[in-house]
Amino acid sequence: MSELIRKTAVELAQLIASGEVSSEEVTRAHLERINEVDGDVHAFLYVDETNALEAAREVDKNIQAGNLQSPLAGVPLALKDVLTMKDVPTTCGSKILEGWKPQYDSTVVTRLRNAGVIILGKTNMDEFAMGSSTEYSAYGPTRNPWDLTRIPGGSGGGSAASLAAFEAPLAIGTDTGGSIRQPAAVTGTVGVKPTYGGVSRYGLVALASSLDQAGPCTRSVMDAALLHQLIAGYDPMDSTSINSPVPDVVAAAKNQSIKGMKIGLVKQLGGEGYQAGVRERFDEVVALLGSLGAEVIEISCPSFEYALAAYYLILPSECSSNLAKFDGMRYGLRVGDDGKHSVEEVMSLSRAAGFGPEVKRRIMLGTFALSSGYYDAYYGSAQKVRTLIAKDFTDAFSQVDVLISPTAPTTAFKIGDKVDDPLAMYLNDVATIPVNLAGNCAMSIPIGLAKEDNLPVGLQIMAPVMADDRLYFLGAVIEAALEAQWGHRFIEKVPS
Ligand code: GLN
Repeated sequence: MSELIRKTAVELAQLIASGEVSSEEVTRAHLERINEVDGDVHAFLYVDETNALEAAREVDKNIQAGNLQSPLAGVPLALKDVLTMKDVPTTCGSKILEGWKPQYDSTVVTRLRNAGVIILGKTNMDEFAMGSSTEYSAYGPTRNPWDLTRIPGGSGGGSAASLAAFEAPLAIGTDTGGSIRQPAAVTGTVGVKPTYGGVSRYGLVALASSLDQAGPCTRSVMDAALLHQLIAGYDPMDSTSINSPVPDVVAAAKNQSIKGMKIGLVKQLGGEGYQAGVRERFDEVVALLGSLGAEVIEISCPSFEYALAAYYLILPSECSSNLAKFDGMRYGLRVGDDGKHSVEEVMSLSRAAGFGPEVKRRIMLGTFALSSGYYDAYYGSAQKVRTLIAKDFTDAFSQVDVLISPTAPTTAFKIGDKVDDPLAMYLNDVATIPVNLAGNCAMSIPIGLAKEDNLPVGLQIMAPVMADDRLYFLGAVIEAALEAQWGHRFIEKVPS
């Protein structure tokens, strides 16, 4: 096993830029690692070996010619299979898109390519990003590298697992209700949901357009900052893209003093329902923050109690509409096209065969919630709750700089434990969803292992809209303080 795979993206980028190793060597080391472990982990749905190596040689040539494309030039990355990449299969974890090759790059991919980042392949996910365990992928589950009998979180379990298994030093996820942060928490990695509109959604296959946001997944806060900076910023191709400067997240990630910083502990995101070992690690960090000179106070966000209920009406409503285009006519799977069936029958047969049970459940829920006579009672009420949640955040941020909570109520559960119980599955998102509904930003960082099961625990930092730099400011300080206590990087404890 090459030593290269254990390095952070920052370290790799420096080695590549200085010419000590080539991007091709680094890329090969990761492809070898994928070959070695992905049979067990199943983080990838597609490995793009030929193009990755070709791109790496291109970067090497550029560096030799004195043209360093970006601070992450030559570093490999794993891409969630919900973002389009020209001529590379994009399935969104669904049978209905099997065989579809997009004709265009998503903006995230364009920016990565321009920066000389090497895309290794596409990672596994819950079908159309619906789920919290990656068990709803039509292509089989991804396994958590900390314990292969457990889930890696979802929907971006493939991206998170690829980091924890050292198959890639960088990954991209998408977070509609927690799909970057919850997988980060249960795999001991770092995940950031940027402010809504901060990263372009062009070429991101929509789940719920008013909530979806792509963001960085890494093994360190600084790696996330560098990746964030590469992919963020205004894009005229996305009508909800924010046209203002990206907060300087890299400067913020430089481990500075948090003396005098005001940190709010969200009363509603803790206590009952949270695993004891999760609470214990969280409480230790709260004490640590006090000793580092921050002022920690409890903040009440009363409407957060209704966030889960509101989200599971708004998301199905939007997805029932977004997924209407997958009908066997334009993309992927087509069933019953034998001259004996009408167009409507082919559409219905294709959708019946192409979508899995969770997707169908949400399409039915959403169609119902939007139907006349029920619209006001369900969708309309949920939207009102959404406004109240945004107001809770505004009130909170008038008192404190950031809010914190555990990222997920439990550590990684066993594969199979919740797959047949949608409500139990939905409860994993209880702490992550408020941020998606309000459109602000949040980060999950590893804070240790829970004592009951020796599995990673994540802490969530939440900041106001377009104050993404605050996430990195606090995240870097907590990371440095904990690593000083442990005497090693957290991720080094993952069993290889
Ligand atoms: N668990 C959430 C859901 O199932 C996560 C969605 C997401 O962030 N893509 O809806």
